[in-house]
Amino acid sequence: MNKKTAISVAVTVVLFAALIIFDALQPRFYTSSFFSMNTYCSAEVESRKPENNLAEIQALVEKLDLEILSRTAENSVVYNLNKNGESLLAPEIYEYFSLLADISKQSGGAFDFTLGAVSDLWDFGAEPSVPDKAALDVALSHSGYEKVALSDNKISLGDKNAVIDFGASGKGVALDSIRSYLDTQKIKRSVVSIGGSVLLYGEGDFTVGIRDPKGGPSSIVSIKTESTCVSTSGNYERYFEADGKRYHHILNPETGFPVENGLVSVTVISESGILSDALSTACFVLGIEDGATLAKHYGAKVIFITDENLIYTDSETKATLSVIDQNYRLAENE
Ligand code: ADP
Ligand code: MG
Repeated sequence: MNKKTAISVAVTVVLFAALIIFDALQPRFYTSSFFSMNTYCSAEVESRKPENNLAEIQALVEKLDLEILSRTAENSVVYNLNKNGESLLAPEIYEYFSLLADISKQSGGAFDFTLGAVSDLWDFGAEPSVPDKAALDVALSHSGYEKVALSDNKISLGDKNAVIDFGASGKGVALDSIRSYLDTQKIKRSVVSIGGSVLLYGEGDFTVGIRDPKGGPSSIVSIKTESTCVSTSGNYERYFEADGKRYHHILNPETGFPVENGLVSVTVISESGILSDALSTACFVLGIEDGATLAKHYGAKVIFITDENLIYTDSETKATLSVIDQNYRLAENE
């Protein structure tokens, strides 16, 4: 090889290597889906190592459920709290409980994180049926967020038969944990859904849809937003029919029966995952007027959809919505 050829070969090799390195540093886009926390989860990540990020996200959700939130996994914090009636909590877990207690109080008990025994009787996750009235009354007598005492990182249930349930808020807790993890990584953009709760993470605008409450394949409304959490609670998520009547899984803590107030779905937008999830359930129980007041108290936005296909929200949020399904329309603001 003469000198000229050698130089041109060396230049080609260097350029080729630079191209490979440059390519390896470019963010790539990957998606995955998995089942955890009794629901379908999906994640998409745009980063330099999306496969690793997706594996870590899944591992994180599974660990959170198994070690902290699950009511059935025998080593979880919630399982042992329900068994023993009290628990010493890690500070960040204590914060979650304190927030749920606060939402329970601020919602006047419409949201109640001690309703586990009542939910168990309905058994929406497995073999649902209308519970016996006497059994329901007993379960209701053991629930009640007011009985829970929280101080110095300690929680005591105040009734040994009370059953703490993260069913309405655990998916949001997972989103908060995922966001903390993503903050430690070099992520361009990511969207993670845990059931009806979605984390929108990263640069730029995102568009997220509200599902068709009647089960149609496309969204009925789209929301344009920056990075945030969006949770929807709907009466179409888990339900069954008995004697021609439909029963769904969002319960009125006063009666123990499904809420019937003309709402079919409630979507809450908040930077906090736990707030978006818990408030979507709380606002569903409270209804449009009181629900809007509660969301405002926590600096969250809320969108209500009624069984008359009307969409209620404040005028600021309205400006971020596009109605996709023309059977639905935005209600006039008062
Ligand atoms: P999803 O599980 O579909 O995301 P939600 O976030 O609205 O829906 O949570 C519903 C779950 O919350 C129920 O399955 C039950 O475990 C629990 N739950 C039902 N009613 C209440 C209530 N009034 N307050 C707190 N939790 C509730
Ligand atoms: Mg919820």
